[in-house]
Amino acid sequence: MKSAEWDAIVIGAGLGGLTTAAYLATNGQRVLVLEQHWVAGGNAHVFRRKRAFEFDVGVHYIGDCAPGGAIPNVLRGIGLENKIEFLELDPDGFDTILFPGITFRVTKGWDRYRERLVAAFPDDETGLHRCLDVFEGLLAEMKKLQEAGPAADPAQIVRDAPNLVRWAARPLSELFDDCGLGQKARAILLAESGAYAVAPSRTPVVVHAGLLGHYLKGAYYPKGGGQVLPARLIEVLRANGGEIRTRTRVERILIEDGSAAGVRLKSGEELRAPVVISNADLKRTLLDLVGRELLSPATAGRTDAYRMSLPIFCVYLGLDIDLRDRMPNTNYWYCDSYDIEGMYQACYEGRMPEHFPLLITTASVKDPHNPHVAPAGCSSIEIMTWVPAEYAFWRVHEGPAAGEKYHRDGDYRSNKEALTELMIAGAEHVIPGLRDHIVWKEAATPVTQERYTLSTGGTSYGIETAIDQFGPGRPAPATEIPGLFLTGASTMSGHGIVGAMRGGVATAGAVLGRDLTREVDQGRVFGDPSKLSSAPEWDPWQYSR
Ligand SMILES: Cc1cc2nc3c(=O)[nH]c(=O)nc-3n(C[C@H](O)[C@H](O)[C@H](O)COP(=O)(O)OP(=O)(O)OC[C@H]3O[C@@H](n4cnc5c(N)ncnc54)[C@H](O)[C@@H]3O)c2cc1C
Repeated sequence: MKSAEWDAIVIGAGLGGLTTAAYLATNGQRVLVLEQHWVAGGNAHVFRRKRAFEFDVGVHYIGDCAPGGAIPNVLRGIGLENKIEFLELDPDGFDTILFPGITFRVTKGWDRYRERLVAAFPDDETGLHRCLDVFEGLLAEMKKLQEAGPAADPAQIVRDAPNLVRWAARPLSELFDDCGLGQKARAILLAESGAYAVAPSRTPVVVHAGLLGHYLKGAYYPKGGGQVLPARLIEVLRANGGEIRTRTRVERILIEDGSAAGVRLKSGEELRAPVVISNADLKRTLLDLVGRELLSPATAGRTDAYRMSLPIFCVYLGLDIDLRDRMPNTNYWYCDSYDIEGMYQACYEGRMPEHFPLLITTASVKDPHNPHVAPAGCSSIEIMTWVPAEYAFWRVHEGPAAGEKYHRDGDYRSNKEALTELMIAGAEHVIPGLRDHIVWKEAATPVTQERYTLSTGGTSYGIETAIDQFGPGRPAPATEIPGLFLTGASTMSGHGIVGAMRGGVATAGAVLGRDLTREVDQGRVFGDPSKLSSAPEWDPWQYSR
């Protein structure tokens, strides 16, 4: 048997994979990261066009980034505390929700959020208080339980956590019914549900409470754009003896005598390590890279049965106007119907809803001094909505992960172009005259997303965070195959930047056999931060290639 050159190989350089890699490297492991795309970051990567505009794929805003917050803590643990600055969106209105006849500005802090909701919907006052009491109560109870640790007594949990016990795993729509909320109040509460893209009838109350709690601690954007997150993690990896190879697709995880032994690349090269961690899509990891025949029937069956989250369609525009003159530092959630449940149901049925919500966000306003975002006097903007995943809807057959060339196909293009135009028309309700100022336009479908990240169904959120698939209903970092671990959006920690990064710490802890999350929360710092460079001209995108 060949000896292993690496202690651990990480498949995929998304934020989950890179966080795991950085934590392992700073804890003395020799780590190699393999990424199929030519720039690292997965959904956190940015792309540039015409040497003029830069666009974020999947870092638009992140909650809880003040010192001591969830992501700053993860960064501090590997010496990055002062290497990434977070710029706060307008705390008095970080999201602006627009429905017909209603403009609602989401403010930082539960108390002010509650006041604004009650002022906007006085007829729903009692129901709103009850609903927010459940959200806040449940989050406070969860925090206490986490602090108590795994030794907590189940009988005590029932006594001390009534909101958690009664509501955490029930559908959000049941809570709204129980509170007697009207459709408009529900729609405002649900406007940001696109951040996990699950219908309220399938969403566990705790997931929505967690999302609101995350952003109500303040909404932030990383200075320098989304790419700074992967780039800084790579810097930690390299400074601690690790390596990353981009343009390197893993085709097989080697299993020998029932344990992980390394990987085989698409090129045929084999690389050996006693630990393999996959940040790649969950289904592809287990069913293709490992192989169904090597899984227990229970695991194979569960993996088949997991439902993926709905994917996102995104329009990227370069504009010849400075949006800072036209809008506050906010994201817009715009929708011309209140029937949020109906919009999700249409997507589940494989069709585009007649009315659909838009998230409109611009780095030109969030991070006005980043020289890469747009030339002076110009702006870049992203417009998103959730969409059906089915290949039939997008007029493709096998998908790009299987090698299908699709992007010149006439049907695919006309479908994509039609939706792009509808989304621009929707965005014009928010930024009038937008269309007249477009100097760059492109869009990404779920098929594009699959091409760049190899995710099943083109999702970026992993398996759906539904009642039967959240928390312990998701895979743990350790698998049934010794030496094989999972990290990223589909694991227990969930999706989004915070889910992927906190989950990355948990997976490194599972590899090392330690509760690293607790160590990090207690303030431990691993590695030697003085090894990290701080050249002012450092370009995160170039550095991540
Ligand atoms: C349009 C959009 C907007 C979003 N907005 C936000 C937001 O504002 N805030 C927020 O918190 N979250 C947001 N997200 C979600 C967030 O970006 C993701 O949930 C998160 O980044 C996923 O991280 P991950 O660790 O699961 O890895 P991923 O990003 O999924 O990366 C996995 C990596 O593995 C690589 N890979 C896969 N297979 C192989 C293989 N066989 N060999 C080698 N490499 C492989 C892929 O190329 C990829 O780089 C958004 C996502 C999208 C798409």
